[in-house]
Amino acid sequence: MTRGSFTVVGGGPVGSLLAILLGRHGYRVGLYEGRPDSRVTSIYQGKSINIALSDRGWRSLEEIGVVENAKADAIPMYHRAIHGIDGELSALPYGKEGDAIWSVSRGGINEQLLDIAETEPNVKTYFEHRLVDVDFETASAVFQVHGEQEITVEANYLFGADGAHSKVRRLAQNLPRFSYSQTYMPQSYIELNIPANADGTHRLEKNALHIWPRKDFMLIALPNPDGTFTCTLFLNYAGNPSFESLHERADVERFFTGNFADAMDYLEDPVETFMEKTPAPLFLVQVFPWSFNCRVGLIGDAAHAIVPFYGQGMNCGFEDCAELNRLIELHDHDWGEIFPAYEKARKPNGDAIAELSKRNFVEMSDLSGDKRFQLRKKIEAKFHDAFPDLWTPLYSMVTFSPEVPYAEALRVGDEQKRVMDNIMQLPDIEKDWDEQYVMDRLLELAIETFGERQ
Ligand SMILES: Cc1cc2nc3c(=O)[nH]c(=O)nc-3n(C[C@H](O)[C@H](O)[C@H](O)COP(=O)(O)OP(=O)(O)OC[C@H]3O[C@@H](n4cnc5c(N)ncnc54)[C@H](O)[C@@H]3O)c2cc1C
Repeated sequence: MTRGSFTVVGGGPVGSLLAILLGRHGYRVGLYEGRPDSRVTSIYQGKSINIALSDRGWRSLEEIGVVENAKADAIPMYHRAIHGIDGELSALPYGKEGDAIWSVSRGGINEQLLDIAETEPNVKTYFEHRLVDVDFETASAVFQVHGEQEITVEANYLFGADGAHSKVRRLAQNLPRFSYSQTYMPQSYIELNIPANADGTHRLEKNALHIWPRKDFMLIALPNPDGTFTCTLFLNYAGNPSFESLHERADVERFFTGNFADAMDYLEDPVETFMEKTPAPLFLVQVFPWSFNCRVGLIGDAAHAIVPFYGQGMNCGFEDCAELNRLIELHDHDWGEIFPAYEKARKPNGDAIAELSKRNFVEMSDLSGDKRFQLRKKIEAKFHDAFPDLWTPLYSMVTFSPEVPYAEALRVGDEQKRVMDNIMQLPDIEKDWDEQYVMDRLLELAIETFGERQ
């Protein structure tokens, strides 16, 4: 029995997962991807681009029932390995012992989900089908096929899972009362590479996310299973130093050797790569509504393009899918109820993770510079160990506590900040941070703020 039909636009990770879950709920699903099939035509040009997947992503995959094998190639990263400007290396754990975020191949997880989608009897995939138009009343859609003729596809419903530059979303901008904002960050980014040792092992510690925090800019590196690391340099687009100001080869060399001296032994042609590559911009998109006439919806980056500093974009998109999965059951396939409930549940969380991600650039890029910031983290971690029900650090709420919605994490995190600002003003905090009176005062303030539990 089928319950009706869906067009899903975009065969990225979120669109593929959505197609699987809709197919399993009995809908006939056409999954339309604009690009060629990466499993047949190598669109990644041999590059391993990886991302950090954490508990929200894994839990969502589990709830939808596609977790087997997904972790097989993932590398756990238990701490941040911080590379000081003098080459000094320090470790800052992500959470309590055993907590990890996982480095996964972006293309790999996408391909795994596409493989699963294609085994679903109700799902049919189409590549090189680029959406060009949508009728928001009827969910009918026009695709350009292989860059040539256009076809019209009819379905009962349509989801735009077509990423940060979503065409569905851009078409929705012509509808009345559609709110839209796009904000560019000062930073842009390029990807660099650290090759493997000759025997295929990693040249830096494998189970860590490496960060070279330099306050206004930073380099990060995530491990791949083949022994390489994918690195990302985040640097202002304009100003000094910036992608714009660094165009002479000698200046670029000075920039790298002056700021990332220890990484220079490992990075593959960083200066050439810097000079050749066009930096990609970072931007946020916030829109409302996320659904139209209870026929057409937005999901994943199409609904909420965020910046990557919390490593949550894909996690958040997978959570959108898990929420839909719950709502389909709760509202027994009544899409007149499901679409409004979906955007009501997810929009505040999309906004919250957008805000948290923006703020986290400062946290990441200032990690080694600001000793008071590190002290603050140390006090919080000690307090969390002593009173785990009363205080979960913000990073852990976002990353390791999928039961806490992003919006709640943001609210509680702001309260915690007020408490910690107070503690950091204690006159001898740098000397006395480990003294009992500091914990006593923190307990008093925390109970005043949160009651007996957070
Ligand atoms: C530098 C960087 C680092 C990141 N790091 C992390 C991280 O560590 N952790 C994390 O969780 N997230 C991270 N992200 C975010 C993550 O990559 C995205 O959130 C995720 O890819 C979103 O998935 P999606 O399926 O919604 O969109 P996409 O992955 O963008 O997929 C959209 C798909 O739609 C297709 N498409 C587009 N237009 C059309 C059209 N007109 N017709 C048909 N198909 C179309 C595209 O070809 C694409 O395949 C990072 C992002 C960046 C840029």
